[in-house]
Amino acid sequence: MWGPPTRARPSPKESSFVLTGQEPPERNQDYALPRDRMCARLRDHYGIRDPGVLAAMRAVPRHCFVPEALQSRSYGDHALPISANQTISQPYIVARMTELLEIDKDSCVLEIGAGSGYQTAVLARIAGQVYAIERIAELAREAQTRIRQLGIYNATIKCFDGTLGWAARAPYDAILVAAGAPRIPAPLVAQLKVGGRLVVPVGESRELQSLIRVVRTETGYREEDHGGCAFVPLIGQHGWSK
Ligand code: SAH
Repeated sequence: MWGPPTRARPSPKESSFVLTGQEPPERNQDYALPRDRMCARLRDHYGIRDPGVLAAMRAVPRHCFVPEALQSRSYGDHALPISANQTISQPYIVARMTELLEIDKDSCVLEIGAGSGYQTAVLARIAGQVYAIERIAELAREAQTRIRQLGIYNATIKCFDGTLGWAARAPYDAILVAAGAPRIPAPLVAQLKVGGRLVVPVGESRELQSLIRVVRTETGYREEDHGGCAFVPLIGQHGWSK
C-alpha cells in the first residue's frame, strides 16, 4: 500500500551538510561522522587494507589529541601542530606505518616519538602491549594522562632518548619511529625479534625522508623503501644532534 514515506527525504540543505564536509562542529562533539569519512578515505583513496588498522583508526578519537582550537580539523587529510613545535602525523601516515608493522593482539610494540599519544593509542587498540618514548617531558606527561583518561591501559609512555630503544622491555615484534632519522638507529634493530619489523623515516636532510621498513633476519636485516615522507627530526644519540 502506498503511503507517506516513513522518513522524510533530506532537504537540499541537509544533503549538502552530508556531502560537503563543511558542517559545523558536531553538537555531541564525538566526531563520529568525520571519523568514518576519514576511514573511508584511508581505504578507498589511500588503499589501506588491514581491517585491524581501519578499525583502530575508527575507534580512536583523534580530536582528543589535538589542541582545542584545531579540533574541528582533526579528521582532515593533513598533519596538525601540537605543543612544543611538534606535529601529530597525517592520518594516512599513521595508518600506513601501522599497517607496515603487521601487528596483532599478541604483539609487543615499541614506539619512538609519542608526541600527542595518538599513534600510541592506535597501536594499543591492535597490539597486546605498547611501550612509547617521547623526549619532550611535557608531551610525554600529557600523552600518558590522555591515554589513561581514554581508558587505555596497555600502553606506557616514558620520557628519554628513544634512539637508544628501551632495552629492559626488548625484544619487540615491531618498532615504529615517528620522527625522521639521518640513518637507521642501530640499537633499534638490535632490539627487534628475528622476523620483527622496524618502520622508520630515514633521510640525509632534516626535512625529507624515505619511509624504510627493516625486517630482522637470522643473520642481519633487510630493508624496503616505502616512499617519500616528511617528519620532524629525530633528535638523540643515534639521530640528529639538535
Ligand atoms: N606520533 C606522534 C607524532 C609525533 S611527532 C603523534 O601521534 O602525535 C615526533 C615526536 O618525536 C615529537 O614529539 C618529538 O619530540 C619526538 N622525538 C624526537 N626525537 C626523539 C627521541 N630521540 N626520542 C623520543 N622522542 C623523540
